[in-house]
Amino acid sequence: MLGSPLTHIASLEGIPISPVKMRVVSLEGVIDEFEALTKDAGRTQRETLQKILEQNGETEYLHKFGLGGRTDPESYKACIPLVTHCDLEPYIQRIADGDTSPVLTGKPISSISLSSGTTQGRPKFIPFNDELVRSTMQMYRTSFAFRNREYPIGNGKALQFIYGSKQAKTKGGLIATTATTNVYRSEQFKRTMKDIQSQCTSPDEVIFGSDFQQSLYCHLLCGLIYSDEVQIISSTFAHSIVHAFRTFEQVWEELCTDIREGVLSSRITLPSVREAVSKLLSPNPSLADSIWSKCVRLSNWYGVIPALWPNAKYVYGIMTGSMEPYSKKLRHYAGRLPLMSADYGSSEGWIGANVNPSVPPELSSFAVLPNIGYFEFIPLEKPKGQQLAKTASTVHYTEYEPVGLTQVEVGKEYEIVITNFAGLYRYRLGDVVRVAGFHNSTPELQFICRRSLMLSINIDKNTEKDLQMVVQEAAKLLAAEKLEVVDFTSHVDTSTEPGHYVIFWELSSDTTGEVLRSCSDILDLSFVDAGYVGSRKTGAIGALELRVVRRGTFEKILEHYIGLGAALSQYKTPRFVGLSNNKVLQILCRNVTGCYFSTAYAV
Ligand code: AMP
Repeated sequence: MLGSPLTHIASLEGIPISPVKMRVVSLEGVIDEFEALTKDAGRTQRETLQKILEQNGETEYLHKFGLGGRTDPESYKACIPLVTHCDLEPYIQRIADGDTSPVLTGKPISSISLSSGTTQGRPKFIPFNDELVRSTMQMYRTSFAFRNREYPIGNGKALQFIYGSKQAKTKGGLIATTATTNVYRSEQFKRTMKDIQSQCTSPDEVIFGSDFQQSLYCHLLCGLIYSDEVQIISSTFAHSIVHAFRTFEQVWEELCTDIREGVLSSRITLPSVREAVSKLLSPNPSLADSIWSKCVRLSNWYGVIPALWPNAKYVYGIMTGSMEPYSKKLRHYAGRLPLMSADYGSSEGWIGANVNPSVPPELSSFAVLPNIGYFEFIPLEKPKGQQLAKTASTVHYTEYEPVGLTQVEVGKEYEIVITNFAGLYRYRLGDVVRVAGFHNSTPELQFICRRSLMLSINIDKNTEKDLQMVVQEAAKLLAAEKLEVVDFTSHVDTSTEPGHYVIFWELSSDTTGEVLRSCSDILDLSFVDAGYVGSRKTGAIGALELRVVRRGTFEKILEHYIGLGAALSQYKTPRFVGLSNNKVLQILCRNVTGCYFSTAYAV
């Protein structure tokens, strides 16, 4: 039934539906539920907070602050302080160590999620329970229902580049793994994927294989085996899709050989993965020929996705925030297919669904689901001029009292505070968002950046977003040379006096020193933060240095993080590497092929 619109899906746990509707519910029903939840989002929020506090009323944490069983927002805000992860660490550590008393949650914490940790250099421990799986499914279904309305898909499969990560046990015996792995392992995930016609083309052995290179190869292979059935190409983050197709460029001939002969490449050595994938393989010379002839006709791999997956309707994954730099390459691979940016959430909990899927990824916003948590927003205002100092590690905005979900204003920026069923109370997420508009009475948020400051030597302040824009500006020079920045990161070198910014670039191929010197000038000039410009002019910050690294360096960094237990599905290239992250710094420094200092501010 390829191409025919999907109208019915089954078993929608987590959404209040009538018993009669329990077995078969239309996607329109999912949309109706969403409309109902957001119609009076303020009321849904009060009810959600009440539920969270009732469920967790007996916890040590809520007792400590004397909430005394009250569940209204006013008492809650008056008694419970705003916290960051550091404040909760001792509690989470006790849970990890085996304390089974209700520390943070009434219901037991089923496992510990490890956040990607690529920003801080070490993973954070976050409590995980079934409520998070439930809200994840609600999020998937909601955005799927909206997507399907505009881009209907029929019975089929999804080529999903998803990867489980290593599972460790905490001292107290809880499983500790990434949030995505916790979700992929759940029964509800499988059911929902089936419901929304997004079953992965790869068997579980591939998703949970212990070697991500082998898993990636097999994802590509299984995707090709089922090429006619694939309707969606996706991953959690856009980076994984780009990474997959960069790999495809290297291994496509080998994949063709496997399909032609029906024998899996010897590069797949893990017995469980070999066995599972071999079952799907049988000699298919005509498919191999067709893939081969399509690949050789492509120009620089433009449009490889629709060429090989002719029934694919779109490419789906998070493309906002730190994933923006990959969308250009993704567009190249996707050719005529639309790119759709996926929802907004974190290991700590989900926030919003993309309910306007046809909006281009750069402009995507996320409608907050008002029943998955209680949300507050700290109004942030950029300081004018230099009158405000920065704190050690975050961008210093002027902060105001947190406001509720329905009190935010269009065009303004906020830091999100979440309270949810996983035992996070008034937890500052550290993300800055801008309100783009409203869907009914729930806000649609645009992701702006992580609040943490990356590049700072003295009075200068630059965030990940600033770096991203600067790199984008300088990379325009490369476009003329048909070159691209494969990946990038930054560092502050204070071993020189004065200290200076270092930008590391991996390029798709070589270019002249002249071009790279011009790039380093543009990088230097494109940091427009007044503190930086002033310091550069007075010489309080030295000339920016562009260091070009060998091809494959960022792959080594990725492997390093995977080795530490990160999941490829959740991987985000660290955009700043500090001295404390010495392993990654070593990988970068060992692979430098050329350094180019800016002469932009030379006097
Ligand atoms: P993690 O802690 O590994 O789960 O990563 C969560 C973080 O990823 C969030 O706090 C955001 O900074 C970022 N993130 C998640 N979803 C999105 C999105 N749709 N757009 C931009 N950034 C996102």
